Amino acid sequence: MIIGIDLGTTNSAVALWDGEAAQLVPNALGQMLTPSAVSVLPDGTTLVGQAALERMAAKDAVTQLSFKRYMGTDHKLKLGRNTFSAEELSALVLASLRDDVAAQTGTVPTEAVITVPAYFNDKQRKATRRAGELAGLSVRRLINEPTAAALAFGLASRGEHEPFLVFDLGGGTFDVSIVEMFAGIVEVRASAGDNRLGGDDFNAALAGAVRARLDPDGLLDRLNPEHARALLLQAAERTRRALSDTGEAELALTVAEQRLATRVSAADLETAAEPLLRRLRDPVVRALRDSQIDTASLSEVVLVGGATRMPVVRKAITRLFGRFPNSTVHPDHAVALGAAIQGGLIARDGGLDEVRITDVCPFTLGVDRSERDGRGGIVSGLFTPIIERNTPVPVSRVHYFQTMGDNQRRVEFGIYQGEAREVSGNVRLGAVDIAVPPRPAGDVQVDVRFSYDSSGLLEVDVSIPLTGESRNVVFVDEEDRKDDAELDRRRRALAALKVHPREDAGNQALLARAERMWEDHLGDVRTVIGQWIIAFQSALESQDHRAIAQAHADLAARLDSLDAEMPL
Ligand code: ADP
Ligand code: MG
Repeated sequence: MIIGIDLGTTNSAVALWDGEAAQLVPNALGQMLTPSAVSVLPDGTTLVGQAALERMAAKDAVTQLSFKRYMGTDHKLKLGRNTFSAEELSALVLASLRDDVAAQTGTVPTEAVITVPAYFNDKQRKATRRAGELAGLSVRRLINEPTAAALAFGLASRGEHEPFLVFDLGGGTFDVSIVEMFAGIVEVRASAGDNRLGGDDFNAALAGAVRARLDPDGLLDRLNPEHARALLLQAAERTRRALSDTGEAELALTVAEQRLATRVSAADLETAAEPLLRRLRDPVVRALRDSQIDTASLSEVVLVGGATRMPVVRKAITRLFGRFPNSTVHPDHAVALGAAIQGGLIARDGGLDEVRITDVCPFTLGVDRSERDGRGGIVSGLFTPIIERNTPVPVSRVHYFQTMGDNQRRVEFGIYQGEAREVSGNVRLGAVDIAVPPRPAGDVQVDVRFSYDSSGLLEVDVSIPLTGESRNVVFVDEEDRKDDAELDRRRRALAALKVHPREDAGNQALLARAERMWEDHLGDVRTVIGQWIIAFQSALESQDHRAIAQAHADLAARLDSLDAEMPL
């Protein structure tokens, strides 16, 4: 028995393949969803799930929520006298789901398929795997949440080139993925999202909008602010859910034995949520752009995540895509069901090959490079992408470079990961250098090949076709300690930027916008934006006010016209 687990930021769920279909397994309270919450009482008792969530607004307990955000980091979460890592708290949730299956089937499961967000990097995936192991589960496979959703919706049997979009709005995170079947493989073509947008934000917006009318005498102000906030948010959550089924509901809570209540309409929620609904668009645009797929080519938009049950959200989605989304599978259950289907495929080895899962490289990998600025100088520290984010892995790509100096003897490439145009904004993985024969500038070609696999292993081959000389370096997962040093270095690099004499709010803002657009685009468009930036920087360097003003106007106009070409 291989169980399928959706280990969510807000809620988790477990499902089983019964030989014909995937079935969710209820927890001890008879619920299909178990809140990803852990709490400790003063006597040291640990609570998991709904019980922990209910202690949230209590004064005497400590509760941890949303710890999935810290997966794969050293961040310590305090719970009573102890501290835990995110993977340890996740292990407590996984163990509770494992026990729910044991209670239903009479057998303690030992194997699982666990889902992870498509953008999870290797470190986060390893931590998830460890969490499973800490819970006594051997993790047969980790699969991407949108891939699991595709399996649950039966989209894996789709024909090729019928891409679909998975729209997943959960409690605190929003993920958009474009998925396609290719040669019998489920391929996540692109993923984008907003990791600070979900049902919780709608609660906060609603609570903020009604607080004054709910509590005109300011009773809540007399409470500990944390406690008052928790009470208010819990009440807003109940009301918001009720509004998914009716046009009007009550928002009520009790403070100091006094009951506060107010009527809330669907229109009230819609008004309060307006700014949040607008934020749904950007990640959709970005995912479509990264995958070079337009809305018209999408065969389907499928809804996943509890917050997509809100009618205001469905309305916004319908407006955004100009069509109705598919919600034939319960949006809360799709990911766990898909994980169980995958577990079933793995168990019955015949079916295993029918659906293989490919991953994407979650970030761009590349080298640093120097470029001539057109005024006789050289700009260095620029990032040249070799494998761009959202490229399916395993992947191998080569780029060709030329020497820049006469009789240059060595070439060194810094190896970076990230989305910033200047390498100082990215994570440095290391460097590779190689000897070159002395020749005039531009006469020696240097080939740089990057190969990246799903375990996060990056292999860099640098070779000189002219001499046959070559170097091969393998980069494995970094030590956490090194990441701290890296962060520190990046922070210092940013601080240095602040005192830079070029600093001038308008120009810097335009530069930042251009850099952000460089990050948002890929391929040739990136190259073009990079050239515009260099031209603008070179004008700034000239310190000629008229030249700067002209270059500013040019760059702004170019960026505007590029923005106008967005697919939605
Ligand atoms: P995650 O994937 O982040 O763990 P879920 O997919 O379980 O999260 O979504 C949790 C969110 O869904 C919560 O914010 C919750 O309020 C919301 N939600 C669940 N049911 C409903 C409903 N009927 N109406 C509105 N929102 C809902
Ligand atoms: Mg989820």
